[in-house]
Amino acid sequence: MGIEQLLEKAAHYFKENDLNRIKEAYEFAEQAHHGQVRKSGEPYILHPLAVADILVDMQMDVTSIIAALLHDVVEDTTVSLEAVQDKFGPTCAMLVDGLTKLERIKFKTKEEQQNENYRKMLVAMAQDMRVILIKLADRLHNMRTLKYQSEESQRRIADETLEIFCPIAHRLGISAIKWEMEDISLRYLNPQQYYRIVNLMQKKRTEREQYIEDVITNIKDKLREMGIEGDISGRPKHIYSIYKKMSSRNKQFNEIYDLMALRVVVDNIKDCYAALGIIHTLWKPMPGRFKDYIAMPKPNMYQSLHTTVIGPKGEPLEVQIRTWEMHKTAEYGIAAHWTYKEGTTAPEGTFSDKMQWFREILELQKETDNAAEFMESMKMDFFTD
Ligand code: GDP
Repeated sequence: MGIEQLLEKAAHYFKENDLNRIKEAYEFAEQAHHGQVRKSGEPYILHPLAVADILVDMQMDVTSIIAALLHDVVEDTTVSLEAVQDKFGPTCAMLVDGLTKLERIKFKTKEEQQNENYRKMLVAMAQDMRVILIKLADRLHNMRTLKYQSEESQRRIADETLEIFCPIAHRLGISAIKWEMEDISLRYLNPQQYYRIVNLMQKKRTEREQYIEDVITNIKDKLREMGIEGDISGRPKHIYSIYKKMSSRNKQFNEIYDLMALRVVVDNIKDCYAALGIIHTLWKPMPGRFKDYIAMPKPNMYQSLHTTVIGPKGEPLEVQIRTWEMHKTAEYGIAAHWTYKEGTTAPEGTFSDKMQWFREILELQKETDNAAEFMESMKMDFFTD
């Protein structure tokens, strides 16, 4: 992965002018980090480049991409914040400053100090939410390259990720990052269980895939008969969610049926309910398992219809139904909700009002300095689920 590939990908939604600014930021960062290497032995610049790449996938705005490329220059090189500001402007400098400060925070992982950790993160978010989004991408890439760290660091970083960064990703609805970080964390914190689940899943994989293939064909035919366009896919469950199910409900692996779930993505809300009807006529729904998160979205904006039916083999089969727009929100949460001005591509982003609750929390935290009091005053269980 080099800058050329990044620019190629970014060209799908950035204008030439923005692409030039991204290239300039890359060259600036490359020069600043020149001679530095990562623990893997690779040139350091590959890290900020990878972070920028994650943000391009999330379709973040150009300032975020530039700040991602520059996120370590103030902390790790002789470049000053003023120099960043002169060359890339005040917003970009503010983001880099936020990330530099966040880098210096020593998170405490003991349970009773959690409140203080969250407050620190929220203070950073209050400045500009993009700081947190870039930080999450940064942490994801560090997790992907965790094998180059010492064993002790691996455990500490994985622990911190699971305790602090995954819940934040969850609350912001950025599931794509949350799930990957959870799985990597488990691999380092409990390798025995992690690999055991991986192996057990592998064993019945072919059988499971054939089964899901048949189910998909069945639904596809029926949808077509009704004139509904839909994309149906099998969705293997994440290792961490299986692990949690086994430990919280004290179940054995072979007692967990729903290793694979189905996802139906259609064009509009009307088709979501139509698809639900079709599935419920094909297989009997299990009582109490239907959830309408379209009519009642989750606080992180997640929307979908959930149902569990008794599948053709008599086993429970979990199904999610959503539109393409909901799918994007399910993967990228708040990052999918930047509003762009008509006719322009990827300018400065602003968040839509859909996360009003989040704004309120940020306002609230400005008014109080005491971490415990702040968490208490939030009433809603912000970081627990
Ligand atoms: P429920 O009992 O039907 O509400 O479902 P769960 O909370 O057990 O979630 C079932 C599945 O829905 C999960 O495995 C996820 O794939 C998906 N899901 C639930 N909540 C969210 C969410 O906030 N974001 C995303 N992306 N997926 C979610």
